[in-house]
Amino acid sequence: MAKDTPQTFYLKDYTPFGFDVESVHLTFRLAPETTRVLSRIRFAPKPDAADKTFFLYGEELQLISAKIDGQAVTPELVDGGLKCAVPSAPFTWEAEVEINPAGNTALEGLYMSNRMYCTQCEAEGFRKITYYPDRPDVMSTFTVRIEGDEPVMLSNGNPVGAGEGWAEWHDPWPKPAYLFALVAGDLVNHPGSFTTKSGKEVELNIWVRPGDENKCAFGMEALKKSMKWDEDVYGLEYDLELFNIVAVDDFNMGAMENKGLNIFNSSCVLASPETSTDANFERIEAIIAHEYFHNWTGNRITCRDWFQLCLKEGLTVFRDAQFTADMRSEPVKRIDDVITLRARQFPEDNGPLAHPPRPEAFQEINNFYTATVYEKGAEVIGMLKRLVGDESYYKALKLYFERHDGQACTIEDWLKVFEDATGRDLSQFKLWYSQAGTPRVKVTEDYAGGTYTLTFEQSTPPTPGQPDKAPRVIPMAVGLLSPNGDEVRATEVLELTEAKQSFTFEGLASKPVPSILREFSAPVILERETSNAERAFLLAHDTDPFNRWEAGNALAKETRVAMVLDGAAPDAAYLDALEKLVRDDEQDPAFRALVLSPPSQSDIAQTLYERGYTPDPQKIYDAAETFTQTLAQQLETSLPRLYAATTVEGSYSPDAESAGKRALNGRILSLLTRLDGGEQAARQYAAADNMTQQYAALAALMKAEKGEVQSRAFFEQWQDDRLVMDKWFALQIACAAPEKTAATAKALTQHALFDMKNPNRFRAVFGALAGNHAGFHHASGEGYQLLADNLIALDKLNPQTTARMCAAFQTWKRYDAGRQSLIRAQLSRIAGTEGLSRDTNEMVTRILDA
Ligand SMILES: [Zn+2]
Repeated sequence: MAKDTPQTFYLKDYTPFGFDVESVHLTFRLAPETTRVLSRIRFAPKPDAADKTFFLYGEELQLISAKIDGQAVTPELVDGGLKCAVPSAPFTWEAEVEINPAGNTALEGLYMSNRMYCTQCEAEGFRKITYYPDRPDVMSTFTVRIEGDEPVMLSNGNPVGAGEGWAEWHDPWPKPAYLFALVAGDLVNHPGSFTTKSGKEVELNIWVRPGDENKCAFGMEALKKSMKWDEDVYGLEYDLELFNIVAVDDFNMGAMENKGLNIFNSSCVLASPETSTDANFERIEAIIAHEYFHNWTGNRITCRDWFQLCLKEGLTVFRDAQFTADMRSEPVKRIDDVITLRARQFPEDNGPLAHPPRPEAFQEINNFYTATVYEKGAEVIGMLKRLVGDESYYKALKLYFERHDGQACTIEDWLKVFEDATGRDLSQFKLWYSQAGTPRVKVTEDYAGGTYTLTFEQSTPPTPGQPDKAPRVIPMAVGLLSPNGDEVRATEVLELTEAKQSFTFEGLASKPVPSILREFSAPVILERETSNAERAFLLAHDTDPFNRWEAGNALAKETRVAMVLDGAAPDAAYLDALEKLVRDDEQDPAFRALVLSPPSQSDIAQTLYERGYTPDPQKIYDAAETFTQTLAQQLETSLPRLYAATTVEGSYSPDAESAGKRALNGRILSLLTRLDGGEQAARQYAAADNMTQQYAALAALMKAEKGEVQSRAFFEQWQDDRLVMDKWFALQIACAAPEKTAATAKALTQHALFDMKNPNRFRAVFGALAGNHAGFHHASGEGYQLLADNLIALDKLNPQTTARMCAAFQTWKRYDAGRQSLIRAQLSRIAGTEGLSRDTNEMVTRILDA
């Protein structure tokens, strides 16, 4: 397709499909390069349809034959599909097409991964399988027959028959085509079972390649916990006899919620103590829950069109966060989520790629599987819950499932159930779905005669296509502390609805210290003149764990900013506060580990940029190094004791408590390594019997440039394990000094185990490159050039992953003129590439146009 005439799709242009699809029968005759797909689809024209055109989407298909009611027809092949004259009464459409799964490196539709057949249809991959009204509002039951010599052949729903060389599946629940799935290959299963609350027995399986069977137990337990949790908390029960999960090595996303047949990136399901870190275990538990929860929020109730993507994703991310908070620690989960939001969503919301959670236009929907749709979409639901209260939230959700089961819905439908369940008018709240950008909330205070007044002013900077923004509803959770550290007002949710608004608190004996935006009650940036002394006070006394962490984080940022701008020494009061907290064994180790984790260098760059400075990545790096070194020296006498006290003895368990302890232990080890030349880390590496400790030791050593021996040993030990090798690739780049980062990444692309066609490996290398702030943004521009070279090469194979990785350039306007011109040159080079995909073209154009 010509890249200079990309078509833009608009939310306002939505029209329903002119036909109902009553049933779908598919037969697959599998062959790596010549798979035949036979479809038999029953269509019924809608009498009142505005658009009666019979258009079926289809891409990269070779049409062999087509029939209507048994008679051969010759459809008109058009750009992106086909058109055909059809009867005005219900009819049966039959088509036979040929496709090439082995040649499908884009990993959309039916493709092969390590000799196994698998599918990825969301968002618009089904049209690469057969001609079909491939849109989420067309729902139907599917019956699927698979013919081939693969030992295991799976599809959605329940099995209805199998024999030598064939298997048949039927899914009784009407679904859109994006939830279709097929898997065939040499697979083994890790079985399990679950009895639903109404007593129905469900067979569970995790299917993996032979050799990976020992990495399924944790995922199976996570699945059972998710099923139980959704029954207990939301009253939602599973609705088929069978639930299958399959692990696939080559996958563009994390995992996919296909009805009854979830397909997972192997990195998001396979786990063992020897090969997975604590962070991997937690992520796997969350993703298994997320995909399972989609069975109701996504599958039973789906999206009318792709503009509504956050309807299913925002809600399901919110639900999986609730699940993780219940399984582990609520405050730690909240802090982790806010760190992620600020690292991924804030740069998006404050740069050229800013878009509302419900975008109103796109060229390629794959480019809108973003942090804004997912993470901000979840934040919007969190605000809604905070505003209406827990009881009303669950009442509204109950109504949502009753009213919309089996339907394809919109954000309007979603908000209407809340209005009906609570009587609230949500028209202003709806702005969260239509306005892009992160609101700034400026806070000023006043105290006189026992009355304390907080005044809030909200504004949102312009974003592409949205110069002006109306005030939004912002739930602002506030508590007040007395100067002696007691809480004098418990948390109260103030509701901001105007551009400027004041709230008063009466009857206070002295001027209180406010704790504002507790639990991070809204995704906004707070602007408030305050002192480091007050921040240190809140770090010590706030009853809200999130705001305690936030106070420490603000202190860390302030000291870094002062170091970068004025060459100041690390703030002594902050170092003292950190020392006190780290040595306080009464405090949760996971929380202490979080307070000890410095703000990212990219975060400091953004902070400087927002304050009107041009960030210098090398100076930011130097300040981080100096700070960490100073902290290590300050803690010198305590580190050996702290290291010993936080070492988890006995056999490994991925539970939250042990993981929190190991997280703190890892932080202590990295500080210790700066002082002891790596002795302790080398001992830990040699003794480690689990990946968390082995990896932490290797990372500390490599950061100190003392890990050569261990890195070689790590490679020797794990070279046959793809997922562990991804860590090895990424770690070398993440730990490289700025001037060596690009060269390290480049050398790794020449490594025998570098495979551009595997998205995990590509992301391991180039995600780490983009994540090494000072290295990627090194003044030489080598990092930019290396990434651009590889994006151009990958685009020919896999446009979706290429386009997503372009986001590494989205913050380019922060930097100096020299870096900007280096980046612009690389972006222009990508944009000018012959035959560039629609996906990448859209991303590069948006970033350049800013
Ligand atoms: Zn999802």
